Amino acid sequence: MTGPTDKKLHPRTQAVHHGTRRSQYGEMAEAIFLTQGFVYDSAGQAEARFQGTGPDEFIYARYGNPTSRMFEDRIAALEGTEDAFATASGMAAVNGAMFAMCKPGDHVVAARALFGSCLYVLDLLAKFGVQVSYVDGTDLDQWKAAIRPGTRAVFFESVSNPTLEIVDLKAVADLAHAAGATVVVDNVFATPVFSRAVEQGADVVVYSATKHIDGGGRALAGVICGTRQFVREVAEPYLKHTGGAISPFHAWIMLNGLQTMDLRVRAQADAAARIARALQGHPRLSRVVYPGLEDHPQHDLAMRQMGSGGTMIAVEVEGGKDAAFAALDRMRIIRISNNLGDAKSIVTHPATTTHQRLSDADKAHLGITPGLLRLSIGLEDADDLIDDLRQALEV
Ligand SMILES: *Cc1c(COP(=O)(O)O)cnc(C)c1O
Repeated sequence: MTGPTDKKLHPRTQAVHHGTRRSQYGEMAEAIFLTQGFVYDSAGQAEARFQGTGPDEFIYARYGNPTSRMFEDRIAALEGTEDAFATASGMAAVNGAMFAMCKPGDHVVAARALFGSCLYVLDLLAKFGVQVSYVDGTDLDQWKAAIRPGTRAVFFESVSNPTLEIVDLKAVADLAHAAGATVVVDNVFATPVFSRAVEQGADVVVYSATKHIDGGGRALAGVICGTRQFVREVAEPYLKHTGGAISPFHAWIMLNGLQTMDLRVRAQADAAARIARALQGHPRLSRVVYPGLEDHPQHDLAMRQMGSGGTMIAVEVEGGKDAAFAALDRMRIIRISNNLGDAKSIVTHPATTTHQRLSDADKAHLGITPGLLRLSIGLEDADDLIDDLRQALEV
């Protein structure tokens, strides 16, 4: 017994029902199939299954599991891709997508402003003979100069961490496709709620489900969304043999996360817009960066691409590291941590934590200054968060 599979249903309906697989008991809530193995009726059935599985047939949880498959089917429907493969973390998804498709001698073009672990994966690719060129993701001329006929893939975060620069997905995808390259987008900051990545030209969309999909900062997971051919014939063989599979329990957490994601993320983005506006012009802040503010250099692009400024804000405190740390230490509701997309608001000092590995020159180049704070807006009342930030910024 499965849930409705009509792809024309609205995302909020799909997020609650799509992909549900019920056992013979007809349970209402999605079951956790906490099993790594599956029993065959006969030796012949086992043999047949190892030659190829049908949609309701499983072999081993590293290859797939009914709970994981429910999550894969549901997120694929929401993202608008034919299929998806769920992974143990966002990094397993990035690593899986890139390593599965590249071979020595291939050429990859990537934006320079990336999550530290994504840069590590690209360095690993280079170590195995893939040529990686880096560009300023917001500069289309640099993409144009770097992409060449035969480029295997382009890779970027559609909204960069932590400075919230927007990459023009459609324009980069057009350049990439003209050269025959596959467009791989790490879409965490855009969130599946505001993503129209596939319609804008992405071939493969990866998420850290740890962030907005879980929404409660509980579990690690990731997902690779793409065509059935890419997911099942390129990504799955790599992941099922190298061990990046999601646990059925975490898939169940993410299925539950998807049911409330639209409500949560829209509320968080509304609050972020209010908070960013309230902080604008604050005498202790030299910059308030939020793609939903009209003064963001790519405000129009952000609205065209996502229709929202998202759930993240970056601010720069006057007075460098000491002033930034003093503000962090005074926050009472907003907690110092480094996750994002959580129901609880989180503040991060990228220069000394998430991006501390970068050289001072690279930090300066990426705008990661000593006074920069990254805010992930949660589900608290926006007025309480504004009060918390204002009192934290008082000298
Ligand atoms: C968190 C994050 C990742 C990695 O995800 P994990 O689930 O922590 O492995 C990758 N890319 C971006 C943009 C992220 O924010």
